[in-house]
Amino acid sequence: MPRRKPCGGGMAASVQRWFPFDLTPAVDQVIEQVRFTWCLEDPVTAVLPGDSPFWIVRRSRLDAYLAEQAVAVGAELEDGSAVETIERHGNHWRVVSGGNVYTARGLVLADGSSSRFSVPLGLGPARPRFAAAVAVEVEAQVLEPSTARFEFGLVHHGFCWAFPRQGGYSIGVGTFIGREAADADAVLARLLPSLGLSPEAGERFSSPLRVWDGHHALHAPGAVVVGDAASLCDPFLAEGLRPALLSGVRAAEAMDRFLEAGTDSATADAALADYTAAMRREWGESMAWGRRIAQVFYRVPKVGYQLGIKRPTAPQRIAQILSGEMGYGDIAQRVIKRLLFQRG
Ligand SMILES: Cc1cc2nc3c(=O)[nH]c(=O)nc-3n(C[C@H](O)[C@H](O)[C@H](O)COP(=O)(O)OP(=O)(O)OC[C@H]3O[C@@H](n4cnc5c(N)ncnc54)[C@H](O)[C@@H]3O)c2cc1C
Repeated sequence: MPRRKPCGGGMAASVQRWFPFDLTPAVDQVIEQVRFTWCLEDPVTAVLPGDSPFWIVRRSRLDAYLAEQAVAVGAELEDGSAVETIERHGNHWRVVSGGNVYTARGLVLADGSSSRFSVPLGLGPARPRFAAAVAVEVEAQVLEPSTARFEFGLVHHGFCWAFPRQGGYSIGVGTFIGREAADADAVLARLLPSLGLSPEAGERFSSPLRVWDGHHALHAPGAVVVGDAASLCDPFLAEGLRPALLSGVRAAEAMDRFLEAGTDSATADAALADYTAAMRREWGESMAWGRRIAQVFYRVPKVGYQLGIKRPTAPQRIAQILSGEMGYGDIAQRVIKRLLFQRG
């Protein structure tokens, strides 16, 4: 820490409510409006409602800041060494990392989209589904520092984004159906000049991204899984920071009750099962609808853009969904009917 992590860093300010400390030191830019385009044309610009602000964070700063806060209240951070093995011995976990051996009653697995441990430990889906994403950081003068851009027409089965940050842009390309990444270089060669940048600008990093793909147990005896390792990423808009933070908070609460239950194994098991139930209620139910919307939208994106995004109420709805004020379930039936009816 701090470490590099390919990520757009777009995050609804509503995550602040889960934290007992101020997150704004980690905020790079406050977004006040969003612009959607189709093949760089047909723009829809919307001012975000004041009660649903959107932040751009730099992951190197946010992640280090969260780690510092945890250390300040007593966590021990072992930085820079990989966990090699995790094994169950009786009622305990045995974790080997950097030559050290740790034993613990409780385990929170948080090793991201390339998790080696979630499937063998029976946490989350047995066969995770992946989206593909390419991230580019470009240092440049930002034309509109408080406008986030989403472009839907250039990427087959996905979209690209350009988020302003201090001193440049965080740009990316995401593909949500199939594992094949879009031809990101070709997409970027068209997107970057629209921001006044050279078509080849920026170093490119591609990453797999585990996306939500059904309700699964996120707990096992003495263990829970959080974030990308739990396949929580939104399958429509690739939002992964908010569910990672939400699951971290809910997992901590569940682990606290688990440890407090001591030898009362029924209460201890129930505490971890409650974590799976809470994540289903607070996240999974909405994602089930988000997945259905994505399946329809990314197959007929041009229709989706015209009928779903270019509606006067759409930007506000998207802001409300990204802030957690609404779930996809609140809009899904109307959106899907509109798209299917138009296709037929
Ligand atoms: C290109 C791209 C752009 C994105 N943009 C956005 C965005 O704008 N907004 C948004 O909400 N989401 C975005 N996401 C998704 C978001 O980045 C993830 O959902 C989020 O990082 C999940 O956090 P996490 O802590 O679960 O995983 P990670 O942030 O991946 O952290 C996992 C950590 O575990 C460590 N680790 C892995 N294996 C081991 C091991 N064996 N031992 C020790 N440590 C290990 C890794 O080094 C890493 O530090 C984007 C993703 C990509 C790929």
